[in-house]
Amino acid sequence: MEESVQELLRAARRAIVEARRDVKALEQIRVRYLGRKGELTQLFKQLAGASENDRPRFGKLLNEAKLQLESGIAAALGQAKKQEHSGKEQFDVTVPGRSPVRGHLHPITQTALEISRIFNWLGFETVEGPEVELDYYNFEALNIPRDHPARDMQDTFYVSEDVVLRTHTSPLQIRTMEKRRPPIRIIAPGKAYRCDSDVTHTPMFHQVEGLMVGENISFGDLKGILTIFVHQMFGPDVGLRFRPSFFPFTEPSAEVDIQCVMCAGRGCRVCSDTGWLEILGSGMVDPEVYKMVGYDPEEVTGFAFGMGIERIAMLKFGIDDLRLFFENDLRFLRQF
Ligand SMILES: [Zn+2]
Repeated sequence: MEESVQELLRAARRAIVEARRDVKALEQIRVRYLGRKGELTQLFKQLAGASENDRPRFGKLLNEAKLQLESGIAAALGQAKKQEHSGKEQFDVTVPGRSPVRGHLHPITQTALEISRIFNWLGFETVEGPEVELDYYNFEALNIPRDHPARDMQDTFYVSEDVVLRTHTSPLQIRTMEKRRPPIRIIAPGKAYRCDSDVTHTPMFHQVEGLMVGENISFGDLKGILTIFVHQMFGPDVGLRFRPSFFPFTEPSAEVDIQCVMCAGRGCRVCSDTGWLEILGSGMVDPEVYKMVGYDPEEVTGFAFGMGIERIAMLKFGIDDLRLFFENDLRFLRQF
């Protein structure tokens, strides 16, 4: 009898381990050993045939075996059910993680920051101003009075009689000079608006304004600073030329062309076979502007310039359609 009990316990324990926390298999083990026709139950029936002397000892043995089996199966079942519950949350720690998609700066922002970085390095401070601007700062103080023909060229969005969406970043020249005394070196990147929309124009666009005012600042300084900028932005071998031009708030004025970055000056579709690309407008600050901000034109001189950030970004990245910047097609944006 003792041997039979030990043998049964060993087999039962092995079966429990092999069931590997499978609820069904464990239930089957319970029936097999403890059920009405179970193996242990059969041994209990043999008690009746045992001698008077042996019966109490065998009885105790069988009861202990029954308790052991019951608690063993119960413990395994408890584990099995717990695991079944958390089954959905199980995960394989060795599977490589899915890396989150990281965003990045828009190519226009990247270009604006790059332009700022170059001018900051040259000692220019970055300033910002309002996009909804007074007519005074956008036009009048910049020597563009009410009847000036240049107003027609600007296709202005009027908010009210005296308030406009700024048509350029040049109001920052006035706002800065009103607040400070020379020497001044600032650049002002930001949005500007014009009532204009076609292949080469969007109603909202980005500009960078630059201003340097102090004593004895000459056209030579203007050429030097802009040459350094172009060489930093497009490479040291890119040629520049200054073409006479007109702006109401600079005198003399010049437009700056760079050698076509697409064809290196040989002539292509982008540069209309001229080999040159216009990238910015510039000039010496008009004495009339100094009078508006209370500076003495006899004492200070300086220059200003402005450029379209989209234009610079298109040339820098070789993009041929302005609209790509504003459609926000991720296939396009992810290339930067
Ligand atoms: Zn070209």
